[in-house]
Amino acid sequence: MNLSTPVEEIKRIGPKYAGKLKKLGIKEVRDLLFHFPSRYEDYATVKSIADIKPDEEVTIEGKVVHINERMAKRRRLKIIEAVIEDRTDTIKAVWFNQSYIKKQLNTEESVLLAGKTSLGKDGVYLSNPTPEVRSMETSPVHTARIVPIYPETRGVSSKWLRYIIYKLLPIAQNIEDPLPEEFVKEKELMPLRDALFNIHFPSSIEKAQEARRRFEFEEIFYVQLAALKTKAEMQAENSPKVKTNVELTKKFVNSLPFTLTDSQKKAAWRILKDMERPIPMNRMLEGDVGSGKTVVAATAALNAVDAGFQAAFMAPTEILAEQHNKTITELFDDKEYSPSIGLLTGSSSKLNNEKIKKPELKEKIKKGEVDMLIGTHAVIQKDVKFKNIGFVTIDEQHRFGVGQRAALAKSGSKAKNKTIPHLLSMTATPIPRSLALTIYGDLDISLLKEMPKGRKKVITKIVPPKKRKEAFELIKKELDKGRQAFCIFPLVEVSDKLEAKAATDEYEKLSSGPFKDYNLGLLHGRMKGQEKDEIMNKMKEGKIDLLISTSVVEVGIDIPNATIMMVDGAERFGLAQLHQFRGRVGRDKHQSYCFLLTESDSEGTRKRMNALVKAKNGFELAEYDLKFRGAGDMYGVRQSGMPDLAMASLDNVELIEEAREEANKFLEKDAKLKKWEILKNKVEEMQKTMHFE
Ligand code: ADP
Ligand code: MG
Repeated sequence: MNLSTPVEEIKRIGPKYAGKLKKLGIKEVRDLLFHFPSRYEDYATVKSIADIKPDEEVTIEGKVVHINERMAKRRRLKIIEAVIEDRTDTIKAVWFNQSYIKKQLNTEESVLLAGKTSLGKDGVYLSNPTPEVRSMETSPVHTARIVPIYPETRGVSSKWLRYIIYKLLPIAQNIEDPLPEEFVKEKELMPLRDALFNIHFPSSIEKAQEARRRFEFEEIFYVQLAALKTKAEMQAENSPKVKTNVELTKKFVNSLPFTLTDSQKKAAWRILKDMERPIPMNRMLEGDVGSGKTVVAATAALNAVDAGFQAAFMAPTEILAEQHNKTITELFDDKEYSPSIGLLTGSSSKLNNEKIKKPELKEKIKKGEVDMLIGTHAVIQKDVKFKNIGFVTIDEQHRFGVGQRAALAKSGSKAKNKTIPHLLSMTATPIPRSLALTIYGDLDISLLKEMPKGRKKVITKIVPPKKRKEAFELIKKELDKGRQAFCIFPLVEVSDKLEAKAATDEYEKLSSGPFKDYNLGLLHGRMKGQEKDEIMNKMKEGKIDLLISTSVVEVGIDIPNATIMMVDGAERFGLAQLHQFRGRVGRDKHQSYCFLLTESDSEGTRKRMNALVKAKNGFELAEYDLKFRGAGDMYGVRQSGMPDLAMASLDNVELIEEAREEANKFLEKDAKLKKWEILKNKVEEMQKTMHFE
């Protein structure tokens, strides 16, 4: 038997248990050894029966004086009762529906019992304790020690796992530590074999913690090595050199109807510097909704085009692609450097704002007659061939692999010199630092910390059911002033269809009820692109007063005249997402409002909603989200492939930073990790599971 022996070949497991173990992700011996306890119960001290009190976890050791089984009177319950005696006293132990216990307890024989004590009418007794017979060869596994409690599944109990894992532990002696010995010493980590033993069967809680710390550090360390190695590998690729045209850039910036914020200037400058190097830029531009990311990307695109390359903008939805097209066209309008701008989405294709047939547009892109192409993620990845793409901006999709980028570049006629376009990914999702350093650890990050001047803070209010009417009145007042409003309906179900239905129902209710004198619009994900566009255009033109929508309206929509964002069922959304919704309003000089309608008055909801009222910016909310909901359920951490212990360490920024520093040192010494074979394999595996590319 070795580490990769399938579990069904192990005595006492077999196909039946193997099936159950699979649910825990356990397939081979190694997986069992690395199935770590989620907690421990302290049964270490063997107590004298005379000293036992109610409600404690204890181990006792004594002789079975008496044992019998009976049926409970009322329910169909088998009860086993035993009396145990040690030198000090006797105690009763009781088991329910566990007939097999009888086989493990023989009168006149000595036994260890570990369990919780309760107070019954005849005094203190042990309920459902785990029995174990002391053996000369091994120490106890279930009693008289710190006992591991594992993540369980139906039919696989902690007790069973303890039994199996204890027997397999000797195999751990064959595992070589992937971490070099000197490193383990220097960082005062527990060596692998000791750590494996101590995480399962620690001699003290401190030992268990020390073991866990080693594994946490190890996992985070691999994540860091994987991220930094990926980053280094990226530096070995080629990208076009985009020389910054300082004159042109100044002219463009001066032509804008506003002054760039310091953050915008700084970010743009970093991006231009990155693009001057012949290695691929891999930068994420992170900034709250409305912080002005588009113009930063446009500055970079302008330089790429000026240097003779094509640029692409990818948006997550058709509406946003349309909007980017409009914004970018306006930014470059009427200037001597007017680039030709194409738009390509599932339902429309335009060149310089004039309709053009798709095949024709694609032909022009291929010939290099389109300088900037704007489209949805899907369209651009799938079927567009560029002549010489140099720069890609991608909105709200955090990762865009080297492979995908290479494919964009390869399609052109300059395929021979295989270059990879520079990448700028933009996000309004505030990313906590721990995540920036792990799942995005291979990217460079620029932050837009400040908002453009003159924006008013959106007034946020939590609206319980009884205040709904009041909120509606306030909305009407705003609409009467000529303003517009959004009303978002919750993700009733994850299905588009039901979500659409909920919004449609609400649309009918509101348009025949409280808002019958106003123009209402409806927007949901089941609508065709063109329908959606019509609605959004009507909203932009002010022909709709109140837009009822599902969350499709979430990212990036820019309607400065809108001053109210109402979210129904607000508790169902993450804080970061609610923050996004709120960012749809307050984009102009008017005072804006965000109403969070919620029927839940639970403590948790109240806390989260209040965080939204108080928070100064998205980053604060991201930290809140991380605390309240955990990283796993958000930010795509679970989908990121990050291992469990690393995930559990996401609140420990110091650990992450320390691991990153150490990883850096390793790669400085040996970029390919050739010296450390096992470590290298681990890291390469991690690069794959974490989808670093
Ligand atoms: P986001 O970062 O959410 O994508 P946008 O790029 O859509 O933000 O910008 C939001 C709005 O702010 C746009 O109307 C844009 O023209 C405007 N804007 C951008 N930068 C500034 C600035 N420095 N001062 C004033 N308005 C700005
Ligand atoms: Mg945007």
